[in-house]
Amino acid sequence: MPRTVQLSDEEAEETQATLDLLPIPAAVVRRCDDDLVLIAINRLFRLAGLGTIGDRSLLLDALDERVRGYLASDRVEERFQWQTSEDIDCRHYAVMLSRRPRDRVANQCVVTLVDHTAEQRTENSLSREMLTDALTGLPNRAGFADQLEAACAESGTEAFAVLVVDLDRFSRVNACMGSLAGDELLISVARRIKGALRGNDILSRIGGDEFAVLMSLEEGAEDACQVARRIESALATPFRLSDFEIRMQVSIGIALGADVDADNEDLIRNAQFAVKRAKSSGKIEIYQVRAFDLMRSQFSIETELRRAIEHGQMHLCFQPICDLGTGRIVAFESLARWTTDTGLELSPGEFIPVAEESGLILPLGRWALAETARTLSSWDAQAGGNCGVTLSVNISAIQLQRDNVAALVRDTVANYGIAPNRLTLELTESAIVADPDRSANTLRALKDIGVTIAMDDFGTGYSNLGYLQKMPIDILKIDRSFVTGMLADRDKVAIVRAILSLAQALGMRTTAEGVETVELEQTLAALGCTFGQGFLYSRPAKSDLAFQLIGLRNN
Ligand code: C2E
Ligand code: CA
Ligand code: CA
Repeated sequence: MPRTVQLSDEEAEETQATLDLLPIPAAVVRRCDDDLVLIAINRLFRLAGLGTIGDRSLLLDALDERVRGYLASDRVEERFQWQTSEDIDCRHYAVMLSRRPRDRVANQCVVTLVDHTAEQRTENSLSREMLTDALTGLPNRAGFADQLEAACAESGTEAFAVLVVDLDRFSRVNACMGSLAGDELLISVARRIKGALRGNDILSRIGGDEFAVLMSLEEGAEDACQVARRIESALATPFRLSDFEIRMQVSIGIALGADVDADNEDLIRNAQFAVKRAKSSGKIEIYQVRAFDLMRSQFSIETELRRAIEHGQMHLCFQPICDLGTGRIVAFESLARWTTDTGLELSPGEFIPVAEESGLILPLGRWALAETARTLSSWDAQAGGNCGVTLSVNISAIQLQRDNVAALVRDTVANYGIAPNRLTLELTESAIVADPDRSANTLRALKDIGVTIAMDDFGTGYSNLGYLQKMPIDILKIDRSFVTGMLADRDKVAIVRAILSLAQALGMRTTAEGVETVELEQTLAALGCTFGQGFLYSRPAKSDLAFQLIGLRNN
């Protein structure tokens, strides 16, 4: 039983005075026979309800072993974290046990506590927030990855499948009906998918219009297909949005844990690749099957691509970007080309997906960046000074996620001695949506270096105002699909107008892609678009020809 220990008057007075000076809860603990007892406490200690002299102490009950261990040791001080219980209203303390150096291995010590409950709570809710999608309340991509990690650690990856559900043409809803309507639709979709799942399946929103389900498999792949079919039929009934009925088409891709050996996140990526297939095939796709089907051809194109990058079989073409007001060429976009051993010229559409899937996009992207910078400095050298244009280079979403793009860009501009503001990086919305926090940091670092940032293919992904406003984006590139055929399509004109006014409101410049006719050029100029790019000015051209174009058009 704890009991009171009498200190000598003088000793007691001195101890008490010292403790009372401290702005934090503090007490002196002594080991008497086999008990730990509080022999002095300050007012803050008592007010915090940590214990009183002569009574049982919450603190000593919880820390009995630690204090004994410390007293038996020869350490001068010891610090650790302590929380009073597992309840939500518990308090968090940083505890310090200490004694004078000469009192080592004595039978008493001072306990002081710093209450950092408030910080701890903020931290907890912040990390909860960072793992949650604010719109639907579901886990976001990071939250999903966490849950996947935990589930796989417990039962092994083989026991699981990941389904990715992608809403087709969701950006249309956003563009035509506004992002509020888009948000409403996403919430209803989430609800319906949830209703189609089994009790333990975990639903999350991993991208703008992309949901993922983590499910355990009892019978095998068929379980996952069944759930996918249930999701499809749950979404088949049209949605009501104010006065409209909207039919939502979805594409579903499945990845089986059994096909993943190292990185659990591969499960998500595999399912996303299966979704891409589902989009073109129009049916539910399982990654495993795809890998099996395509392994051979994929493998050889991958090997050849690797060789091509290493052996300099890649080159860049450059397509001019013109100022719609003056008609002058202000920039070129560099576009990768691959000439195979047999002299075949492959376009990026054929090898970029393979490069992204195999990870070869990293060396490819690094090469493209360096080659772009090298070209610019050689053009400057030929012009005997600034050649008058800037160059844009495409950075894949995967590269933005996996590479240290900012460091790469910093080194590249330094190596080739070019002013950072002569270089533009073209990123896609998917790059940002995949991991908004990481991309925001990278983008900020890039802005600090001084390069220009363009959002490529704008309008085809998840055009969320929130993201855009927060990111330091200089230029929006309006996707070709909205520009082509725009003159005969009022919907497209409305979309282009909306994008232009959005860009203007956010102080961004705009580039229209796919300008093939003078009529289009004039309409776009009249609508206030800043730049145009397309076959009207030139197809992508080899470096020498592109350089000559500057002289031809700008003089
Ligand atoms: P993008 O960034 O949207 O590039 C523009 C594409 O549109 C180019 O196709 C270009 O040839 C084409 N284009 C330009 N003007 C017109 C036009 O008036 N009409 C039509 N019909 N097409 C036009 P390309 O060169 O086949 O590139 C395809 C995509 O491949 C690019 O789309 C870009 O996303 C990607 N890409 C190209 N080079 C690289 C690279 O070095 N790195 C990365 N990560 N991606 C690249
Ligand atoms: Ca581009
Ligand atoms: Ca583009």
